[in-house]
Amino acid sequence: MDFVTTFPQRPELEKARRKLERRDIPYQIIDAAPGYSRVGTGALATSAEGRFALGADLDLTDSGWVDYRPASRAIPARPPDSFPEDVFGTAAIMVLAPCVADLTRIRLIAHLSGNLTEVLPYLNAEMPNGFYNPNVPALTFMEGGRMVVVYASRITVAKAEELVDAWRTLEALRCLVNQTWARRNEIEPSALMRAKPPALEIFKRLPGSNCRACGEKTCMAFAVRLWCGELRASLCKPVFEGEHKHLKPALVEICAGLGVVTQDAESKPSGALED
Ligand code: SF4
Repeated sequence: MDFVTTFPQRPELEKARRKLERRDIPYQIIDAAPGYSRVGTGALATSAEGRFALGADLDLTDSGWVDYRPASRAIPARPPDSFPEDVFGTAAIMVLAPCVADLTRIRLIAHLSGNLTEVLPYLNAEMPNGFYNPNVPALTFMEGGRMVVVYASRITVAKAEELVDAWRTLEALRCLVNQTWARRNEIEPSALMRAKPPALEIFKRLPGSNCRACGEKTCMAFAVRLWCGELRASLCKPVFEGEHKHLKPALVEICAGLGVVTQDAESKPSGALED
């Protein structure tokens, strides 16, 4: 198996399976159930031939394709925890793509059936290492090496190892959200924008060539001024228009999560992952 995809809706997975069977193309299904059934449908791994056959099918809605890597952990054999008041609901993975900065990792956007607007200030109070931007609103935090951004009705995960790892991250977040909401009477909600996360996170998504096209002497100086809200990301022409355009989705993504202005933020939903 060379490639893997997932689907926002379970019926699409079944449709894809039937299409490959009709063409006698080998595939493997990795079911998100039982343990991750609230945050995933299932994954379908297949060959380049299978990917081409499904990708050319306009009748099928997949979330995107990434290189197949075997999961490093098993799907929990027990059903997911349930909560008396489930503010998270379910997550549907709408976008799946390789990480721009590290092609061995994956990134995704999951849309929620619930709404976390009221939960975010409580999560912010409980996560001193997170970064909260009440203007979006969005809470950004690192989980292991993964970067997670929680919006009111969607979640982005970057640098996940593979799909099962991403499902685990989403399921852990689902539990954290619902547990935090259940304890909200014990928590003082906070809209505090804590100490700024290192501009290093922005710098890591710049070319590092210090070409000065933005008017700054170094990419690091540009990252610091970007973070401080003094410049727009689109002033980095090598990323937005030039030879480093492949870095643009990652830069837009981090800017959206941190509430930093880019040209794209005005015309696209913040947190959008581009191809
Ligand atoms: S234009 Fe971009 S690549 Fe050039 S110095 Fe500024 S931030 Fe770095």
